[in-house]
Amino acid sequence: MSEILVLVEQVEGEVKKVTLELLTLARSLGTPAAVWAGPGITPGAKDRLAEYGAETIYVAGSSDIVDHVVAPKAELLAQLVAAKSPAAVLVAATAEGKEVAGRLAVKTDSGVITDAVGLGEGFVADQSIFGGGVNVHSRVRRGTPIVAVRPNSTAPEPAQGAGAEEEVTVALTDAAKAARVVERVKQEKGARPELTEAAIVVSGGRGVGSAENFSVIEGLADALGAAVGASRAATDAGWYPHQFQVGQTGKTVSPQLYIAAGISGAIQHRAGMQTAKTIVAINKDPEAPIFELADYGVVGDLHQVVPQLTEEVTKRK
Ligand SMILES: Cc1cc2nc3c(=O)[nH]c(=O)nc-3n(C[C@H](O)[C@H](O)[C@H](O)COP(=O)(O)OP(=O)(O)OC[C@H]3O[C@@H](n4cnc5c(N)ncnc54)[C@H](O)[C@@H]3O)c2cc1C
Repeated sequence: MSEILVLVEQVEGEVKKVTLELLTLARSLGTPAAVWAGPGITPGAKDRLAEYGAETIYVAGSSDIVDHVVAPKAELLAQLVAAKSPAAVLVAATAEGKEVAGRLAVKTDSGVITDAVGLGEGFVADQSIFGGGVNVHSRVRRGTPIVAVRPNSTAPEPAQGAGAEEEVTVALTDAAKAARVVERVKQEKGARPELTEAAIVVSGGRGVGSAENFSVIEGLADALGAAVGASRAATDAGWYPHQFQVGQTGKTVSPQLYIAAGISGAIQHRAGMQTAKTIVAINKDPEAPIFELADYGVVGDLHQVVPQLTEEVTKRK
């Protein structure tokens, strides 16, 4: 089977979950090969990539790759596409991943699909557009399919691969080195999972009522090991930071479980969570549009329902 390149997302040597998802997806379509861009690969990282099916791990360990913004990763992948003729290239549909995908498509004269939520036989990708109102099946017809897949679209499943390491030397052009990274500032990380990566997201909306009341949402999130999200009404009111806003002008999440509490389900909110595998809505208005989308709905006051839910979840732990 042909090789499928998967660009590894990692932080300080730790492989991100989305990469394990992409390797799992790649396994169903060909032979997965991980591409490590930059220095700092650890034995633990190699084991993890192999554990999820990487037959080969291409390691381009030059610090030049990470000392410059995005373009070197696209050049590295373009070089590998030319040398290895893979069947496809998968990247995470993060802001950086999508930029890499676009640049790679230009360099290799290939088609690109972004924000895929599934990828099947013949590299037919599923996309959910217009706020989730329309599902699109698309396929690249030119060059090597380059597909940016949304985090949480596939459940990661281990299946041991050989993990054979192959060193790659990349000859970067001056153009790729045009923008240099001069400083990296570490964002304070809380105990909760990152919103776009979390398998479970608990979001609160205007129905939460105040910034203080968001502790109800946080309580359930912590009981479930989930990330906290918010509607724009809640972030605009200053009840929760904007970085946690889910929707068209916020983050796109695609968790296994999305719990929306006190959120009406406006199209702009749906755009950011519509592809969640299971949606649970808690709303006191039985006519709230979110119920059209929800797999399970609870009609009630979230201030009563959510604490009871938290208690039940905690009891079962
Ligand atoms: C260009 C544009 C971009 C936008 N981008 C986004 C975006 O990225 N994300 C986003 O979320 N919105 C976005 N919006 C705003 C969007 O249109 C809605 O206004 C917003 O999503 C509403 O948030 P909400 O559901 O929390 O509030 P509301 O629509 O006011 O709904 C609150 C809900 O809470 C329920 N409720 C009230 N009290 C309780 C209670 N005690 N218990 C249970 N339920 C209760 C109510 O019945 C109601 O259904 C955008 C709008 C525009 C025009």
